[in-house]
Amino acid sequence: MAKKKTIGLYPGSFDPVTNGHLDIAQRAYKMCDQLHIAVVANPSKKVLFSVEKRVELLNKTTRHLSNVVISSFNGLLVDYARQIKANMIFRGLRAVADFEYEFQMALINRSLYPGIEVVFLVPNEKFIFLSSSAIKEVATLKGDVSGFVPSAVEKALRDAF
Ligand code: ADP
Repeated sequence: MAKKKTIGLYPGSFDPVTNGHLDIAQRAYKMCDQLHIAVVANPSKKVLFSVEKRVELLNKTTRHLSNVVISSFNGLLVDYARQIKANMIFRGLRAVADFEYEFQMALINRSLYPGIEVVFLVPNEKFIFLSSSAIKEVATLKGDVSGFVPSAVEKALRDAF
């Protein structure tokens, strides 16, 4: 039996994309034929950057990866996964703290869409502590974030604050 093409979906707020996100994206990319990185547009979180800006920054910082598609979506993750025919959802795990929520969501998503596999990836230990919210806090206080985000994001943060 021929193996099905692997279409991966890596969803998140990406407000903004960090080197931790990119580490996970590169690992996910190696595991699929096509990887969709999608900005969740639901306004459930207070965000700094518009959906369009977050998509633009993802586009700029993943240019070197072929077969990566950047998009955004509203509504249920599994509905979007069905729409793009994804058969894998990727999420990154930083610490045990991420696990409980991610585990619960993975089980809910799989019961809503039994055809999907949820894959958890662990970043390089350099990025274990890194989050978009920490980066925004440092940037607000005019701290140097160049070691944690790509240069396009560093510039966007400088413009924002
Ligand atoms: P969400 O609001 O969906 O959690 P985020 O943009 O914060 O959106 O994160 C998207 C995904 O990337 C999540 O699976 C998150 O755990 C993962 N992630 C974020 N930062 C890192 C990091 N530094 N290392 C590994 N995974 C990360």
